[in-house]
Amino acid sequence: MIGNHTKPTQGFAVIISAPSGAGKSTVCRKLLSRDRSLRYSISCTTRPPRAGERDGRDYFFLSMEEFKKKMHRHDFIEYAEVHDHFYGTPKSFIEDETSRGNVVILAIDVKGAKSVREKRPTSTVTVFLVPPSWRSLEERLTHRKQDDSEVVRRRLSNAPGELSQAKNYDYIVVNDSLDEAVAQIEAIITAERIRTSRRDLSALGLKDAVAAAGRRND
Ligand code: ADP
Ligand code: 5GP
Repeated sequence: MIGNHTKPTQGFAVIISAPSGAGKSTVCRKLLSRDRSLRYSISCTTRPPRAGERDGRDYFFLSMEEFKKKMHRHDFIEYAEVHDHFYGTPKSFIEDETSRGNVVILAIDVKGAKSVREKRPTSTVTVFLVPPSWRSLEERLTHRKQDDSEVVRRRLSNAPGELSQAKNYDYIVVNDSLDEAVAQIEAIITAERIRTSRRDLSALGLKDAVAAAGRRND
């Protein structure tokens, strides 16, 4: 849970990218259940819902026509075609939440991560989640039993290209033990919340003391 003196004056986005099946959704669910102050950016997608997925909770499931309308209205901060479907991040949610000092989690692909970072260089933190081995990625994707074998094959064939982008992220977290991966991302979020650029001493009533020290040092 967020401590009394941990809320930043400037909110930020935490992007979590990973090859399909590495455990992004699982990790995000756990992060959000453990820290109720975190916000989750629900993406729009033209992909059909999987069993158990709910519109407005996991994604906003849209037709291609609805998606294009939003694209043309510039409702997305970024959008990309991933594994044969379109995905887009609503712009207003991130802007509203970060301006209130909140931390927003985005589970988006490598192309989306690059464009959000370019648009919000000082208020974006990027985390690349990797599986502990290629074998475990194959097993997780297959055992999830949510996609047919052609979709699994296609997602696995995209994984090396996605993994090659890990070097451009701020942090790399290995999702071997789920608890450990979640703890590492929580540590990242805590450190980023108390980054000097996001702090304001006047909020603690220490501004006058700092100004007086400044005058003495002149
Ligand atoms: P993604 O969102 O990255 O595509 P999921 O969160 O759907 O991946 O996870 C893929 C599968 O791997 C799921 O069946 C999930 O339960 C399992 N999984 C996730 N994290 C772990 C972990 N640390 N250890 C073992 N299995 C995991
Ligand atoms: P899935 O279909 O497994 O839910 O997601 C497939 C891929 O699309 C994942 O890499 C996921 O992170 C990515 N994705 C989900 N939402 C968005 C989004 O809004 N924008 C972008 N660029 N990628 C997204």
